[in-house]
Amino acid sequence: MKQMIALLTAMILLLTLPACGAQPARTARDREVFAMDTVMELRVYDSSDAVLDEMDAALAALSRELNAEDDNGGLYALNRAGGGENAALADLVRRAAALSARTGGALDVSLHLASLAWGFPSKRYSIPTEADLTELANHCGMRLVSCAGDRITLQNGAELDLGAIAKGYAADCCRAILERAGVSGILSLGGNIQTVGKKPDGTDWTVAIQDPDDPGSYLLTMTVTGTKSVVTSGDYQRFFERDGARYCHILDPETLSPARNGLRMVTIVADEGFLADGLSTALFVMGLERGIEFWRAGNDFEAIWLTEDGTVTVTEGLEDRISYKNAEVVRR
Ligand code: ADP
Ligand code: MG
Repeated sequence: MKQMIALLTAMILLLTLPACGAQPARTARDREVFAMDTVMELRVYDSSDAVLDEMDAALAALSRELNAEDDNGGLYALNRAGGGENAALADLVRRAAALSARTGGALDVSLHLASLAWGFPSKRYSIPTEADLTELANHCGMRLVSCAGDRITLQNGAELDLGAIAKGYAADCCRAILERAGVSGILSLGGNIQTVGKKPDGTDWTVAIQDPDDPGSYLLTMTVTGTKSVVTSGDYQRFFERDGARYCHILDPETLSPARNGLRMVTIVADEGFLADGLSTALFVMGLERGIEFWRAGNDFEAIWLTEDGTVTVTEGLEDRISYKNAEVVRR
């Protein structure tokens, strides 16, 4: 009997001890921040606000550093001076140049002057003349951008605009913060979704893709396992209309004019935020057919295209992960 009691006591101790010594429960913690011109929603599963604070600070710093319109930031200074030394920016620009080459120039981070001419940063929109566009072509294009070590050189007054990759890169930085802390979470950085790790209940993450015609609703939902980046570029996020035509903020580097090729939006799913963001912009420029060819040639991303006629096209790797609200679907 004594032995029984001792055993029972030991069992009770064993059952209760871990609970006493365990970490405080990891619950969902949410924070909304405004950075990079957009509202960002951060959700982490943690027992304190520490990683939220860290991400908040990192996003504020990146928002300043990577924004061509922020006169306190590194990119602004670089553009004013026609280049300069900045290790972090040189690294980013080198990566952007490599992705630009891979996408046949569809991604082009040297179009700031063209963006300004169309009035996108200021929201004071205007349509440049043919002569304006011809002149702009002398000051835009990746051939004018070079990096050597930490030094970036911009020729002919070219200016950098990192808007196409900034949020993706920011997602990678946030992901690193979460991974270092061993914390899982889901981040929405204004159209860029980043999942990190596993949901505490072990189920997949669910990501909803906005309906371009009804921003309050969604076009489809997608399950995501583990750490991924899901990035959407479309013609409905920033645009203006003149005489019934829509002019969106994504420019075709060949014409320096808003991309218009029958696409409404493209979503990219990839392991890395930088890649997903860069490709979402590039594939929006490419249009559907060129985009599908590009996808076939690679193996590091999946994609969803929505065309103006309401057709959704998805790549193989996503087929079983998507639930459609009410769209006609073509599978590739
Ligand atoms: P968003 O930033 O709205 O989520 P994107 O990631 O597609 O959308 O980036 C669009 C931004 O990138 C534009 O606002 C502009 O600053 C810049 N940009 C426009 N066209 C291009 C292009 N062809 N290549 C690279 N950057 C571009
Ligand atoms: Mg992008």
